Amino acid sequence: MLLADLSPGDEVILPSFTFVSTANAVVLRGAVPVFVDIRPDTLNLDETNVEAATSDRTRAIIAVHYAGVPAEMDALNAIADRHRLVVVEDAAQAIGSRYRGRLAGSLGAMAAFSFHETKNVVSGEGGALVVNDRRFSERAEIIREKGTNRRQFLNGFADKYTWVDVGSSYLPSELVAAYLFGQLEQFATIQQDRMTSWNVYAKGLSGLTELGFGLPQCPAHCEHNGHIFYLIAPDAETRDALIVRMKADGIDTPFHYIPLHDAPLGRKVGRSIGDLPITTDLSARLLRLPLYYGIGDELDRVIERVWHHARELKG
Ligand SMILES: *Cc1c(COP(=O)(O)O)cnc(C)c1O
Repeated sequence: MLLADLSPGDEVILPSFTFVSTANAVVLRGAVPVFVDIRPDTLNLDETNVEAATSDRTRAIIAVHYAGVPAEMDALNAIADRHRLVVVEDAAQAIGSRYRGRLAGSLGAMAAFSFHETKNVVSGEGGALVVNDRRFSERAEIIREKGTNRRQFLNGFADKYTWVDVGSSYLPSELVAAYLFGQLEQFATIQQDRMTSWNVYAKGLSGLTELGFGLPQCPAHCEHNGHIFYLIAPDAETRDALIVRMKADGIDTPFHYIPLHDAPLGRKVGRSIGDLPITTDLSARLLRLPLYYGIGDELDRVIERVWHHARELKG
């Protein structure tokens, strides 16, 4: 959002169904998050609602790739072209995912990845900014070096380095970078394990639709990365009861985002496009199943327990 060069009062379109960091980036620049509803199939920004959310203050669109399923980037980029907006991918969950064969993170002007401990590839805390539009490259290097032109100096293009712009210290430590490098070297192995586990859930739980449950959906032109396996319970009461029962079995099946448009700060500083009914409904019915590298044999027990409780609650 620093690179998008927002001024106070500028607007950025984003889903309400996302992590607070997506909106904090906007609010920290004094800009207004404009919350748009999501699609019921992928839980990503509903691209058909985005054009109506634009105003003469709109500067950017942030597309979140929820559960590693890419948002409808062609439609979003087309809207951005018409209104001269910057498209930023929140690819925090989407390392390795593809949209029409192209990797997530290469689909907008810029993209942010996360290496938080909950993601597929981790460094404890950390992330990466990908800059696809060369207009932003030079300033990106200045902002991450505390607003100095140290990068130009190190490359021999300046004889000293000095304070030229706003910035902060966005570099990872050597230890964090070393940990991350090891993870990236093992990326194929990590992904294979995750996808295998995700597919075990998909196969073992596909019959839950007969009890009124929804399962994750990935459009035919997208490839997800097995980041999250979630269930959509038939109603909020069943979701809450299922979480409690699974917990009693020692299995953590957490819900996910509380809609930001309806959160105390979201109401104060944001603007919403309509009532966001899909966001409100699905966030109250979604729960996530355990999914991590090496989960292996645990999968069968989780599947058996989900079936047991789902039948008792809805059979
Ligand atoms: C994890 C996550 C973030 C935040 O990542 P950090 O590395 O904690 O900054 C932002 N957006 C989404 C969609 C995420 O899943």
